Amino acid sequence: MRKVVKFGGSSLASAEQFQKVGAIIRADKERRFVVPSAPGKRSSDDTKVTDMLYQCYDLAEQGKDFKKELKAIQDRYQEIIDGLSLSLSLDEEFKTIEKQFKDKAGTNYAASRGEYLNGIIMANYLGYEFIDAAEVILFNEDGEFNAEVTNQNLRKRLESLESAVIPGFYGAYADGRVKTFSRGGSDVTGSIVARAIKANVYENWTDVSGFLIADPRIIYKPEGIETITYRELRELAYMGASVLHEDAIFPVRSEGIPINIRNTNAPEDNGTWIVESTCQKPKYVITGIAGKKGFCAVNIEKDKMNSEIGFGRKVLQAFEENGISFEHVPSGIDTMTVFVHQDEFMHKEQQVVSAIHRLADPDSVDIEGDFALIAVVGRGMKSTRGTAGRIFSALAHANVNIKMIDQGSSELNIIIGVANADFETAIKAVYDIFVLSQI
Ligand code: ASP
Repeated sequence: MRKVVKFGGSSLASAEQFQKVGAIIRADKERRFVVPSAPGKRSSDDTKVTDMLYQCYDLAEQGKDFKKELKAIQDRYQEIIDGLSLSLSLDEEFKTIEKQFKDKAGTNYAASRGEYLNGIIMANYLGYEFIDAAEVILFNEDGEFNAEVTNQNLRKRLESLESAVIPGFYGAYADGRVKTFSRGGSDVTGSIVARAIKANVYENWTDVSGFLIADPRIIYKPEGIETITYRELRELAYMGASVLHEDAIFPVRSEGIPINIRNTNAPEDNGTWIVESTCQKPKYVITGIAGKKGFCAVNIEKDKMNSEIGFGRKVLQAFEENGISFEHVPSGIDTMTVFVHQDEFMHKEQQVVSAIHRLADPDSVDIEGDFALIAVVGRGMKSTRGTAGRIFSALAHANVNIKMIDQGSSELNIIIGVANADFETAIKAVYDIFVLSQI
C-alpha cells in the first residue's frame, strides 16, 4: 500500500508547520511519496515565496538590482532550516539561482525554485530521496503536459524507491528548460505521482478540512462535503469552488485513485473523499453549490432558426474566430443564447456581432451583461423528483428572477443564470432549502 501526500504552501510556511507535516508523515508508514509546495503565507499579511520569486525575477529581467529581494527569499528558507535544526546549506543553490536570474532564465524557472528548494529541505528533514521534477515531468514544445511519457519516466524512476520527495508545480521541456503548471499546480504534480505509482490514495493536505457545500464567504459556516465524485467536483471546480487545482483530477481519474483532502492543522478530521463512484447516499440531495459572476448573454434571433441546418455551428464559429470560448448555449425555437465570460468578451464584442451577422445572417443580436451563473450539483438529483421545482420555488420566495436554466443531460447539475446583484441571495436560498431546512 502506498500513499502520495501533497502538502500545500500554508502547510509548509514555517518550521512549525514542517514539524506538523513530519508528524503526519511519520504517523503512517504508507505515506512514502511526498510532493511539497513552496512556503506559503505564515499569516494573512505575509507573502508567498512563489510571489516573492516572481517579483524578484521581474527586477532581474529589467536589469535592476535584486540582491535584497533574493536575500529575503533565502532568509525564509534559512528560518525553516534553523527551526528544524538541519545541517543543510542552500548557499550554493542561491548562487546558482542568482546567476540564472542574471542570465534571464525565465519566469518559469524563477517560480519553480520555490518548490525545488522546499523539496530539498523536505527530503533532508525526512531522510527521503530528492527527485528534481525537471527530470521526470515532461512538457511538449507547445507547452502541453506530456502525460504518457511522464508516467513512464516517473514509474521507472520511482519503482525501486522506498520513499521520495518530488517537488510540485514544475517539470521541463525535453531540452531541460523548466516549465511550471498554472498557479496552484502542485496539486497536479501530486496527482501525476499518484498515477505513476498506482497509489491506493492521493492525500492532499491543505489548511481546510475538505470541501464545503457552499462558499463560506456567502454562507455562514456551511457544512462540509464527506464524499464527492470526480464528475461532481469538475462541475463545482469549473464554477469556482477552489480547494484543488481543477486539472488535478485527470491523472488519478484514469486509475480510479481516490483523493482525500485533509487539514494539516486538524489531522484528526476525515476531510473530503473525491472518488470515481460510490454507493454512499449523499446526506442531502445536492452535494454542492458554486457560482461565478461576470457573464454576458448574447441573444441571437432568427425566425425559423430551428429548421435551418448549421445555424448553431455558424454562430459558434463567430466566437471561435475571435478566440472566445462559450459556457452555455440554451436555445428556443427562434432564439439561441450564448453565455460567455464578460471580461474576455467585452473587448471583442463588436467583432463577434459582425461575424455572427456575416456567417449566420440572423434577424437580430442582443447583448446583456452582468449575469451570474450558479451550479447546483449533486449525484442525488438523478433519483429525486422535484429538485428543479424546489430550486425555482426557493428562488421565487427570495425574490430572485431566474434568467436562464440549463440542466445537463447527466442530471448531475442544474445551472441557473441570475443577475449579478442577486448572486448571493440566490445561493443562500438554494442552501437554505436543501441543507438548512433538512437539518
Ligand atoms: N507555489 C505555487 C503557487 O503559489 C504552486 C502551488 O502552491 O501549488 O501557485
